[in-house]
Amino acid sequence: MYSTPPAIGHAQQITKDVLWCRMPLPLALDHINVYLVRDGNGWAIIDCGMATRETITAWTSIIEQLDGPITRVIVTHMHPDHIGCAGYLTETYRVDLYMSQTEYYAARALYAGSQGADNWQERRYYRAAGFTSEQVTQFTQSKGGFGKVVSPLPVSFIRLVPGETLALNNCLWQLILGLGHSPEHISLFNPELDICIGGDQVLPKITPNIGAYSTQPQSNPLYYYLQTLQQFAQLPQSTLLLPSHKNPIHDIPKRVSEIIHHHHIHLDNLMLACITPQTLVDLLPVMFKQALGEHQMFFAVAECLAHLNYLLAQDKLTCEVDANGVNQYQTKP
Ligand SMILES: [Zn+2]
Repeated sequence: MYSTPPAIGHAQQITKDVLWCRMPLPLALDHINVYLVRDGNGWAIIDCGMATRETITAWTSIIEQLDGPITRVIVTHMHPDHIGCAGYLTETYRVDLYMSQTEYYAARALYAGSQGADNWQERRYYRAAGFTSEQVTQFTQSKGGFGKVVSPLPVSFIRLVPGETLALNNCLWQLILGLGHSPEHISLFNPELDICIGGDQVLPKITPNIGAYSTQPQSNPLYYYLQTLQQFAQLPQSTLLLPSHKNPIHDIPKRVSEIIHHHHIHLDNLMLACITPQTLVDLLPVMFKQALGEHQMFFAVAECLAHLNYLLAQDKLTCEVDANGVNQYQTKP
C-alpha cells in the first residue's frame, strides 16, 4: 500500500483528512515528502520543501486544487528541505508557523550566519579529523548555503512543546520529541487515525544523518538519537508512519530495530579498526563505502565523529591529540 508516490504538484490521499505530496530537491536525495492535514475548513501544511522555483510552482498547483485555505504551517525541524519554503508560505497565505522552540531559534541563527566571527574552531574541527591544510581551507570557506534555499523566516512563531498535543480538526496529535538528528525534532502521532508523521526521525531504506558538527564538536547526538528512538519502537505495529523521504513505513518497531542495528554495526566496525591508532579521515572508509563529494563529506565527517564520540562516552575508545592537532582514536584493551 502507498508504494506509488504522488506526482510533483499533486496530492495523494492517505485518508480523507491526510494528504501526501512531494517536493523536488536539487540533491542526490531528489525529493521530500510533505503532508497536508485537514484543519477545520482548510488544511495545515506539515513541512515545506526547499525555497526553489520548482517547489513554489508545486505548492501553488497543490493549493489551487484544495477545497479550503491553508490554515497554518507546521515544521518538524529546521533542516533546509523542511523549513526552506516556510517563510514563503506563511507570508503568502498570512498564516502562522508552528515549530519547537529550539528548532525555530536554530533556524534563525543559521540564517543570520556567523556575523564576521572568526572560524578558527571550525578549522580546528577539520584539522583534528586529519584533513590537510588545503582541505581545511576548502571545507571552511563560507558558502552561505542555508540562506540560498531558505526563504526569510517569519519573525514570530507558535511553539510546539514535546509531550503536549496539537488539535487539528478536533483530532489530537501527540508531539514526539526526537533528538540527535536535529536539536528538537517534532514528530506527530495521532492514535485515532493510527498515523505518525515522522519527519526525518525514522526513515525507510536510508537512515537520518546523526552528526557531531563543528558548532558542537564534543556532542554525543547518537546517544540521544538512540534514546528518543525508543518512543517509536513503542508505537503500535499497526501505525502507519509517513516519513519525510521515500515511502510510508508499515511496521515501525521493525524499522526502528533495523536502524539501531545499523548504528551498532558501525560502532563495532570502528572499534575493530581502532585496534591501532586511527584518525577520523582514516575511519571514513569504514563507515562509507562510496567516494564522498564535498557536500557528502560535510555530513560524513559529522556522522563519523558522532559514532566516535558515542564510543568515547561509553569508555570504549581513547582519543589522543598528536603534535599536529590531529585526534588519534584507539580501542581500549
Ligand atoms: Zn533533517
